[in-house]
Amino acid sequence: MHQAAYASDPTKSRGRLFKRAEETKVSRSDFQRDRDRIIHSGAFRKLQYKTQVFLYYEGDYFRSRLTHSLEVAQIARTIARIFHVNEDLAECIALAHDLGHTCFGHAGEDALDEVMKPYGGFDHNDQTFRIVTQLEKKYADFNGLNLTFEALEGIVKHNGPLLPLEDGEKLPRTIADFQSLMDLELDGHASLEAQIAAISDDIAYNCHDIDDGIRSGILKLDALMALPLVGPILKEVLALHPQIEQPRLIHETIRRMMECLVKDIQEEGARRLAIVKPQSVEDVRAAGQVMITLSDQMGQDLRQVKSFLYKNLYTNQHMIEIRDKVHSQVQALFEAFQERPSLMPKDWYDLRQGQNTEFGKSGIVADYIAGMTDRFAMQQYEKILSKKEFEIA
Ligand code: MG
Repeated sequence: MHQAAYASDPTKSRGRLFKRAEETKVSRSDFQRDRDRIIHSGAFRKLQYKTQVFLYYEGDYFRSRLTHSLEVAQIARTIARIFHVNEDLAECIALAHDLGHTCFGHAGEDALDEVMKPYGGFDHNDQTFRIVTQLEKKYADFNGLNLTFEALEGIVKHNGPLLPLEDGEKLPRTIADFQSLMDLELDGHASLEAQIAAISDDIAYNCHDIDDGIRSGILKLDALMALPLVGPILKEVLALHPQIEQPRLIHETIRRMMECLVKDIQEEGARRLAIVKPQSVEDVRAAGQVMITLSDQMGQDLRQVKSFLYKNLYTNQHMIEIRDKVHSQVQALFEAFQERPSLMPKDWYDLRQGQNTEFGKSGIVADYIAGMTDRFAMQQYEKILSKKEFEIA
């Protein structure tokens, strides 16, 4: 695969925290190995029963965190190929980007963040980093997945540099602690592969949330007609196929939207690369700006789509009712495990007992709950806290 000078090169990786000699003997590049480790992780499999927007029992066609991550990875590979950068690394970061999501999506995260406030709060990006550096316990020689610098850096900085901090902001705890083991250069930008994973996430969720929103009956076609980006494409498809059935119309619209967004990134990326002229991945890190992104106009259009989805889908009455319910359930589980740690499985119980600070103990409970799928959290809630209140709709 021909790679551009500014691509991340697996043969020039800055390496892993734990060096293992046998790793050089197998016919996979370091970034392929990183990607494979994500796919073989337990956290990745659990994404199957974690919420993207709709809870898993609301229907089999809705996206889960797992199918969302696969869609992000597929878009990321396409864009990586367009720019001749490393597809394996872009795919790896895309597949990993949501590993740290709790049960019940952002509602679960907010609930955990509130109860963890005295201990530094809870953040899904930091949790992703905890999973890949500590919580996965599968390898004989180390905790975590022992990913390369480039994968870790991409996971941590895919939304831009973490430093300098704004007033009152603090570095998430796991990321901050890791800095003494490996400097992830938090004040610089990440590679183009990480930038690609980030923009692919935006494309994937805005497009598929429209699809899922219509399928659920919460979003109406008429309302979408007035939106930039979506409206004109809907009209275009209708003009070409006046008799088209709604499911086909939606799919034809979504695929054109994706095409349109990727094409815009291709043009804007080429324009920015021609100005900055990075000659290496180091130049990319030092560029002081993102290079793989949408044009100003398309960025504005997509922000309008986003705020439409926020108003009409994410904060729809049905969603708010579910959010309130799972919010209180996550907090009730947290309190239950704090008061009676023996309700947790023995390995988690032992881990918690081994901590000598409240900070440490509550962190273990948060890790345990964050790792739960929606399905398991519901079962636990029913088993521990309610026999009848919690019925699957
Ligand atoms: Mg995502």
